[in-house]
Amino acid sequence: MQELTHYVNGVHIKGTSNRFGDVLNPATGEVQGKCPLSTTAEVETAIEIAAAAQPAWASVNPQRRSRVMMKFVDLLNRDMQKLAEVLSREHGKTLPDAAGDVQRGLEVVEFCMGAPHHLKGEFTDSAGPGIDMYSMKQPLGVCAGITPFNFPAMIPMWMFAPAIVCGNAFILKPSERNPSVPLMLAELLEEAGLPKGILQVINGDKEAVDAILHNQTVQSVSFVGSTPIAEYIYATGCANGKRVQCFGGAKNHMIIMPDADLDQAADALVGSGYGAAGERCMAISVAVPVGDETADKLIEKLIPRVEALKIGPYTSGDDVDFGPVITAASKANIENLVQTGIDQGASLVVDGRGFKLQGYEDGFFVGAHLFDNVTTDMDIYKKEIFGPVLSTVRAKTYEEAIQMAIDHEYGNGTSIFTRDGDTARDFSNRINIGMVGVNVPIPVPLAYHTFGGWKKSMFGDLNQHGPDAFKFFTRTKTITSRWPSGIKEGGEFSIPVME
Ligand code: NAD
Repeated sequence: MQELTHYVNGVHIKGTSNRFGDVLNPATGEVQGKCPLSTTAEVETAIEIAAAAQPAWASVNPQRRSRVMMKFVDLLNRDMQKLAEVLSREHGKTLPDAAGDVQRGLEVVEFCMGAPHHLKGEFTDSAGPGIDMYSMKQPLGVCAGITPFNFPAMIPMWMFAPAIVCGNAFILKPSERNPSVPLMLAELLEEAGLPKGILQVINGDKEAVDAILHNQTVQSVSFVGSTPIAEYIYATGCANGKRVQCFGGAKNHMIIMPDADLDQAADALVGSGYGAAGERCMAISVAVPVGDETADKLIEKLIPRVEALKIGPYTSGDDVDFGPVITAASKANIENLVQTGIDQGASLVVDGRGFKLQGYEDGFFVGAHLFDNVTTDMDIYKKEIFGPVLSTVRAKTYEEAIQMAIDHEYGNGTSIFTRDGDTARDFSNRINIGMVGVNVPIPVPLAYHTFGGWKKSMFGDLNQHGPDAFKFFTRTKTITSRWPSGIKEGGEFSIPVME
């Protein structure tokens, strides 16, 4: 069995804690690796190395820093298949989906190539007699990121690419469930020309996270994961004086209007509800058809589509729609919630319980489930299931449907399917959710826009990637500079006003 490492100052090092997390192959249930869980001292050493390396990197001009990103994109493309394969083996998602995970991160790296433009400051010539005023965007110093299991390539790249191109050093604490791809990314970025110590990967659990949160050198913390941990990291990071952005869980609604193309809506629901076994923060987990006639027709179209979904290991290539979930605990949690749904009175119209795959009996496969007649007081409506379970909540009117999404505590993504521009426009304007799709089921913004939810799906002020990333990873300094000429007039004692 492989013992994984940390990546510190350009070398792979073994952990010293003698504590390990299991890295599983979710398709077979086998433990395929041991992930070292770092001590506070190990984290602190990496932070000291980062702090020592960062000033020289910050003084490299932005164009040259961008060129490292350009080269990194080449290397990601070169190694795409290898990265996707390792990612699928540790996560369970299909190979095309794993390549998409890498690709979406790569697109953020492409956006970061434009750093010289985004880092340009502002300048006012002659703000007063002989006075120029200008603003600079300076890196923060040492930044840190804590990432979830479900996008082990994309989410680390969301964070470290903009942080590093802005001139910071970055400590990445990836999910202990699938640390191999993050380690490979750090190696690749050094192959692309990044100096040692600027991107380090520290594997670990709460101890490592707490060491980051309480370290005075770390200037910012970026987090993506579940809401309770997001709230904890936001509160603790802010209390320790850091700049913090935390992205949490989700319960994404799709409203299906009576005038929608129901075949399109059903296809969209199946892809977004069950893709990656529902382990996406932008998965649609609640379908809200408006009117009983719409609901009946939609369910009729959904049932054969859901029953036809092919579930299997990533080694089956393009032949499967989704793979296993991440752990046995996650599988048990999903199954318990399904049982709660039945107990609380929802109709299970596609029953995926007891799904078994020959030859993979120990894998964490969960069959596709479809619920009808779910109500807003049920646990399967209120909680994030993070599995292949789609709940249908029937609404009588558009107003009832939009209010449902407004009232839910999560606010990551949502979508409306309609042929009516007026309804779509009203929905987009009134909804209190960060990312909205109109006839688009997974409205994940591209790299040059920003990604972020509202309500309990996001804590902080600035989103991931896009222009917000350059704001999050820099500090503005404004200089007022006077080069007096001619007669010196002596001191001024009232507050200066520039006329
Ligand atoms: P998680 O919260 O269990 O773990 C995320 C990270 O936090 C990991 O690195 C983990 O080691 C660390 N962590 C776990 N427990 C901790 C603790 N007690 N103290 C400090 N750190 C701790 O999340 P997960 O299961 O890896 O990921 C799934 C969750 O992430 C889902 O809720 C999903 O919706 C969410 N997610 C959100 C977004 C988004 O952009 N909003 C994107 C992807 C995933």
